[in-house]
Amino acid sequence: MSGPESIATVQKMMKQYNLFPKKKWGQNFLVDGNILNKIADSCDLNQHEYVVEIGPGLGALTHQLASRSQGVLSIEIDNSLQEALQPVLDHHTNVRLLFADVLKVNIESAIKQTFNLTKIPQYQVCANIPYNITTPIIFQLLENCPNMTSATLMMQKEVAQRILAVPGNKEYGLLTLMMAYYSEAKFLMKVSHNCFYPRPEVDSSVIRITPLREKRVRVDDENIFKQFCRAAFQKRRKTILNICSGFFKLEKTAVEKHLTEMGISPKSRPENLNIQEFARITDTLAQY
Ligand code: SAM
Repeated sequence: MSGPESIATVQKMMKQYNLFPKKKWGQNFLVDGNILNKIADSCDLNQHEYVVEIGPGLGALTHQLASRSQGVLSIEIDNSLQEALQPVLDHHTNVRLLFADVLKVNIESAIKQTFNLTKIPQYQVCANIPYNITTPIIFQLLENCPNMTSATLMMQKEVAQRILAVPGNKEYGLLTLMMAYYSEAKFLMKVSHNCFYPRPEVDSSVIRITPLREKRVRVDDENIFKQFCRAAFQKRRKTILNICSGFFKLEKTAVEKHLTEMGISPKSRPENLNIQEFARITDTLAQY
């Protein structure tokens, strides 16, 4: 048994279970068997590894993950999909479904409990995630899931570009910086919008996010660092001199002197600075 890997099968299942794709939950189902295979293969899972899937939908990716792993915990918000997901459970004894909002679940306790384990295992996340909550999902994983070894996520192409951007690039911004702070991100593949039903307006990308064991930069005060990065990109057209002077409430002449001593041009814009420079500016100027 494979799964709902074609438009015809998805349409048939929707009719059979009296379902319709719900836009509010980003229900664009992946209907390309080749891509589903490639995504699951790219995780390089072994039979002793657990996987968390966010939003199984009709179970297309769940099937692929189940046959490659020790166990799959699939977290789905839409409990009207329960009946349609039953074939996944019938074919794989290692799949557990949890009907809940992933943003409100303690993922690590859920794995331990649903698989009846004595401790939280290391696990991967693999998912075609709902596009409207991509960023909250990523930060939920990076901030609250210390045992996660990697997350292979399909997302809107433009969001992936922002995550993978480099300084000087117009997509470079707060998301890039915060992702770099917590993780290493790698591009895996582009997926055409034709591979989904219903077809979304935009193309997608699959990227792999690997949490860093230690944050990329050490900062004296993480809150001030994050607030400064946010404030800087809210005014991305201003010079770093003006941004720093406003944010740290310091005279421009003093800021200019410190920036120059740090080897940073006061005329730089936020999009020209890397994360190490943001960290250095914060640690230096927050002292005054
Ligand atoms: N995995 C399926 C596939 O590839 O065909 C469906 C992917 S679809 C893009 C996103 C799925 O996430 C939908 O099944 C949707 O109901 C579910 N979803 C949306 N918001 C969610 C949330 N907050 N928590 C858990 N699941 C959610």
